[in-house]
Amino acid sequence: MARYPKPMARLIEELVRLPGIGPKTAQRLAFFLINQTPAQVQSLSEAIIQAKQRIIYCSQCFHLTEDDPCAICSDSKRNKNFICVVEEPRDVVAMERTKSFDGVYHVLHGAISPLEGIGPNDLKVKELVARIAPEVEEVVLATDPDVEGEATAMYLARLLKPIGVKVTRMAHGMPVGGDLEYVDEVTLSKALEGRREL
Ligand code: ZN
Repeated sequence: MARYPKPMARLIEELVRLPGIGPKTAQRLAFFLINQTPAQVQSLSEAIIQAKQRIIYCSQCFHLTEDDPCAICSDSKRNKNFICVVEEPRDVVAMERTKSFDGVYHVLHGAISPLEGIGPNDLKVKELVARIAPEVEEVVLATDPDVEGEATAMYLARLLKPIGVKVTRMAHGMPVGGDLEYVDEVTLSKALEGRREL
């Protein structure tokens, strides 16, 4: 069987490491890329390198940012005493699309999952606890409405309530087992509006 020339094989090897990309897709992408113009390929590789070089995590909320603190944390119009806890940076983007939240965020970078061996220490949990100053009025837990997200919300509620802060959970009405990122804006802002105290 004819093998791919080395550079092509290497490209396929790199692509197959990407999440959700199997060997067949990797081959298709590799063929697509080698048929692009040099300028197009240059632009793609520069975008990857620049994103990697310039994007950091906000030292306050752990959202993706170019400047620290991020645009949300440094916005004087945002209520710093209302913290929305989400699993991933993409959930911040989804919440921001609703335009119905005027507080700040805290990105956990995952959810508690005993099956995958992910515990509180693997997430930005102690950083969240450190943010709960006496003036913080409310923490709304907006982790995904799936098993891991619910477990994470329960864990955080037990951890935060003794500190004396009001802890709420996004209302149901969000599809169970769903991903915050894919919930439409209206449903998401209704879920925020109907949040209940834990
Ligand atoms: Zn921030």
